[in-house]
Amino acid sequence: MEGVTEELEQDEFVGLSKMHFDVSEEQSLILEQVGRACQEIRPIEEKCYLERRMNDRVKPIFAKAHVLGLPISRRYGDGQGADMVTYALAIERIGREGTGVRTFFSVHIALGQLTVQMWGNEGQRQAVLGPATKGERLLAFGLTEPSAGSDPSSLTTSFEEKEGRFQLSGQKTWISNGSIADTVLVFAYPKGKREGMCAFLVDKGSPGYSTKFIENKLGLPTADTSTIYLDKVEVPKENLLGPKGKGLSVAYSGLMNGRLSVAAGCVGVIQDCLDEAVRYAGVRVQHGKKIGRHQLVQRHIGIISTNLDAARWLVLRAAFLKQKFEDDPANVELRDAADLAITKAKYFAANASFDSANRAVQVFGANGYSFEARPARHLADTRVTSIYEGANEILEQKIALGSLGKGFEAYS
Ligand SMILES: Cc1cc2nc3c(=O)[nH]c(=O)nc-3n(C[C@H](O)[C@H](O)[C@H](O)COP(=O)(O)OP(=O)(O)OC[C@H]3O[C@@H](n4cnc5c(N)ncnc54)[C@H](O)[C@@H]3O)c2cc1C
Repeated sequence: MEGVTEELEQDEFVGLSKMHFDVSEEQSLILEQVGRACQEIRPIEEKCYLERRMNDRVKPIFAKAHVLGLPISRRYGDGQGADMVTYALAIERIGREGTGVRTFFSVHIALGQLTVQMWGNEGQRQAVLGPATKGERLLAFGLTEPSAGSDPSSLTTSFEEKEGRFQLSGQKTWISNGSIADTVLVFAYPKGKREGMCAFLVDKGSPGYSTKFIENKLGLPTADTSTIYLDKVEVPKENLLGPKGKGLSVAYSGLMNGRLSVAAGCVGVIQDCLDEAVRYAGVRVQHGKKIGRHQLVQRHIGIISTNLDAARWLVLRAAFLKQKFEDDPANVELRDAADLAITKAKYFAANASFDSANRAVQVFGANGYSFEARPARHLADTRVTSIYEGANEILEQKIALGSLGKGFEAYS
């Protein structure tokens, strides 16, 4: 450097920090694999989006790339044993292909498989995770009901114990992968009670089980969102997931992984919006120059770029803390720290992705007002990310409670 007369030696500094921000060689290999599958899915996803029909190629393409069991133990099927940071990086990459594609993974892997991995007994893990990691058994997560959304404790789906089996009745709605799932995690109270919630693994083929695809959504036309009807569905005793009465804890632990996954996907959306806005601003000419040279267009790009860094680092920190908790699962302080970090990451990344998509559409002008433009699709699709897996208002209160502390709960 000019003006520097003597170089300082590396060993004259004390390396106190063990933190590093490099992507390892192993991670790069996984991300390359994910990237290749993403390239393959892109034209198919675009075609399906414009025809407004479900993309059924996601499962086979990503199964072939060994991505469907990424954070699952190598003991099961095609589990790759990836840590949560690697998982988050992979989901970020997938998020660039659209929130519809990414939602499939959040549900099948984060809400589904990771919940079974955490709460299931060995028999359940073998039975579910073996085929799920290979895409031979798709999973869904059935918590929401017509009258129970932000407040899952108010759900009305119930179960009765009958001759060594459970019989479930009720309705779950707005369930991602609901029609295509082979197994759904269903949450229900004992009949006539409002406590003692349990979680069950319910199989598609069971008599009394039916589904209906939800049409006319604002976004995610390529993803399956369905209502599931349970009419006295018989569930074998061994399909109880986690201890009896711990259903709400099972649900909340699933939501923690689900929120991390949503947040990581939103980072991918922001990246794609930035790439698209930069590309377009570099070719579109108005008032005699490329629009990227107009300062107010630069402002949009500057804000999207800042959204990207802020969201990405919140997600990586949250994933890092979540992994620390996975390595030390009895540590309640770590669990709470990870939960709060994930909540902040999901809250920020969801809003930042919508803001970024909106700005990218603005940079495109009229050419962004068509689903043929990627930013338009992101704008329609990311709207859901501040509703599902904890609506903004619920997360704001949870984050505030992290600072205010006990005694300031907005609701019980
Ligand atoms: C495309 C899509 C996919 C989905 N996938 C799944 C899935 O796979 N599995 C599943 O179980 N669910 C799924 N959901 C449902 C989703 O999790 C719920 O929509 C979410 O929990 C919010 O519930 P709600 O829609 O009933 O809204 P409500 O709970 O009725 O809330 C309505 C509004 O009131 C606000 N509000 C509610 N309570 C409070 C409060 N105490 N303080 C302040 N404001 C409050 C909310 O923030 C929101 O703005 C999905 C939803 C969509 C749209």
